[in-house]
Amino acid sequence: MSTSSFAASSTPKPQASEPVPANDFKRQWEDVRADSLAAVEAVGASGWYILGEQVRGFEQALANWWGLPRAVGVASGLDAIEISLRELGCREGDKVLTTPMSAFATTLASVKLGAVPVFTDTDQHGLMNLAQAAELLASRRDIRFLVPVHLYGLSLNLDRLEELKRSTGVRIVEDCAQSIGATHEGRPTGSVGEMAATSFYPTKNLGAMGDGGAILTASAELAAASSALRDYGQSAKYQHDRIGYNSRLDELQAALLSRVALPRLTDWTARRREIAARYTRGLEGSAVRVMRPAPGSAPSWHLYPVWVAPPSRDSLLAHLKEARIGAGIHYPVTIPDQPALRETPYQTPQGIGRARELAASQVSLPIHPYLTHAEVDRVIEAVRAWRPPR
Ligand SMILES: *Cc1c(COP(=O)(O)O)cnc(C)c1O
Repeated sequence: MSTSSFAASSTPKPQASEPVPANDFKRQWEDVRADSLAAVEAVGASGWYILGEQVRGFEQALANWWGLPRAVGVASGLDAIEISLRELGCREGDKVLTTPMSAFATTLASVKLGAVPVFTDTDQHGLMNLAQAAELLASRRDIRFLVPVHLYGLSLNLDRLEELKRSTGVRIVEDCAQSIGATHEGRPTGSVGEMAATSFYPTKNLGAMGDGGAILTASAELAAASSALRDYGQSAKYQHDRIGYNSRLDELQAALLSRVALPRLTDWTARRREIAARYTRGLEGSAVRVMRPAPGSAPSWHLYPVWVAPPSRDSLLAHLKEARIGAGIHYPVTIPDQPALRETPYQTPQGIGRARELAASQVSLPIHPYLTHAEVDRVIEAVRAWRPPR
């Protein structure tokens, strides 16, 4: 036996720790398997796959859970925003005030309608700067639409949003793709705008096993018009009153959402809040900056963002990778800086300096309902052990 193999067997390498992934759909499947198979069985046995009982039932259940009057299932979060904007009268050349820090879909919805996105800068958490939005809406009467985003699941200040709507008459579609379950002073996000949009992309807080989205609104007319638009603009069979879309939520996703995900959403949201509280306590005094929600704000914690000085982000990401922790960046590039925006007009009247800084300094730590306390503690230890390079 050679010395080196003797050395290797007598001093075993420490057991490599298991990865802590950003999302854990395998663990989730163990929990939801029986309910998911029952949902598939229900749809299969019904012999009805598009726009039936499941979608109707889910729309009602979602509206009840959310505390808003009406929901209309559509094919994606992107479509939910686009259809909502169109319902509110947004047309080619119209200006839509929005935020540079979001999923690209937030802006894409306006661009697809031929509208011109106008970007505010962000606040220190990466959310739309509502003070700038107020200034722009007061000085620029040509901006008639607003798509605010409750990013990371942190509600914008809904009182200020309400005041903007009241004082300027701006028509609002709230992007709630990350904020289902989030409240501000007890009110749910999505309750200020005439319409709100959400997404059931699998990683979202209420995820399907594929794509899906919904429009939420208090207006019976807007809900009926959205139902027609998602289905080729039909108001009745073979009666096409509008140029519509094929943007239907299918029965299978609706059944999975109503039998599997929605009944767990309250517990899932509570678990996300526990994890966030553990991170916030555990990371106190560490080298990263954490999100400090305003009093009265109860985030849904779709993501758990932290920030570091821009030049040190790569070092933190490498350190977390070494510890096998699945960190992410939301988002590494602002929307106006995306190459696709070169093809289409947009405006950044106040600059987007803060958003660019955050795009270079943000890191998302794993947060999902199937994360254990031990795993959260491992992430905390790893972050605490990190020192920014000097
Ligand atoms: C996911 C997301 C969307 C788009 O939803 P899709 O269902 O993927 O089209 C829009 N806005 C935000 C903030 C999102 O996170």
